[in-house]
Amino acid sequence: MLGLREKSDLQTLVYAFVLFPLVPAVQYLRPELVGWLLPLGLYLGFSAGVITHNQNHCPTFENKRLNTFYSAWLSIFYGYPIFGWIPTHNQNHHKFVNRAGDASITWRYSKKHNWTIAWTYFFVSQHFQGKLIKEYLLKAKAKNPALFRGILLQYVFVLVAHGSMATLAVVLHGWKLGAWVYGVGFLVPALFALWAMFFINYIQHVDCDPWSEYNHSRNFVGRASNWLVFNAGLHAAHHKQAGLHWSKLWTLHDELAPHIHPELKQGSMWGFILRTYVLGLFSDRFRTHQVGRAAWDPPESSSEALDLTLPPVDTTEAGVNASMA
Ligand SMILES: [Zn+2]
Repeated sequence: MLGLREKSDLQTLVYAFVLFPLVPAVQYLRPELVGWLLPLGLYLGFSAGVITHNQNHCPTFENKRLNTFYSAWLSIFYGYPIFGWIPTHNQNHHKFVNRAGDASITWRYSKKHNWTIAWTYFFVSQHFQGKLIKEYLLKAKAKNPALFRGILLQYVFVLVAHGSMATLAVVLHGWKLGAWVYGVGFLVPALFALWAMFFINYIQHVDCDPWSEYNHSRNFVGRASNWLVFNAGLHAAHHKQAGLHWSKLWTLHDELAPHIHPELKQGSMWGFILRTYVLGLFSDRFRTHQVGRAAWDPPESSSEALDLTLPPVDTTEAGVNASMA
């Protein structure tokens, strides 16, 4: 149906082509709702982040051109060209899983876990992920023109869409109200999408054991909340089989769950955040503690050196496809 590889992606398409444009449109027409609709906008921003992650692991459409267009469309609501996931996440994070060599390690400048480190993690991590993105862009430009064209299309969509939406807001509502409408109704959810994806990566790996087959990730296992975020909470299963479609993660999670440490099966992300960052201010028992072996502590049997150098990215057709499987 609609050229979808998985029927369950009808839910994704409703988000991408109905909710993502509709909610800003309502605010452009009824600017008094801007602010009130921000929580919904942030939720949709988070969803946009998850959907871009899923699209890079398991493309939504059978048709390659449709996927190229769809990736460019999603980039608008992610606030950044979504190819960025490939060199930083698919080819890098999934390989190293928070061990040395991962551009997105949670322990780069501090091995502690508290709110300050969690919310500023974005700024640290994006600096190192940015190096891989730059290398990927330059390599794609030199060696893989088809890939490079797809990337350029994503940049064009982001710049044209945000430029047009900013202009439209000012034309409709003047400078002051227009800046509020574009900023809060359209830009902030997109910026939040990016920040939130870094944040969730942080809380899904901090104090976990990347040397373990089952305890490398923290999972959030609420049924309803996972329905709302395309099963983004089932992270151990996702790392086990990165190319598995999001709708099939529960089956794999149920197989893994008996082996996963109880601390790494949190009911709700909000409960975890409240306990760790608010109650944790008052008592150590609410904070996280290292489960098993720390990422920076390779077992003697491991041949891995504790080397934080980032390995090269791969822009060949085979390399890109392999990282999406
Ligand atoms: Zn992933």
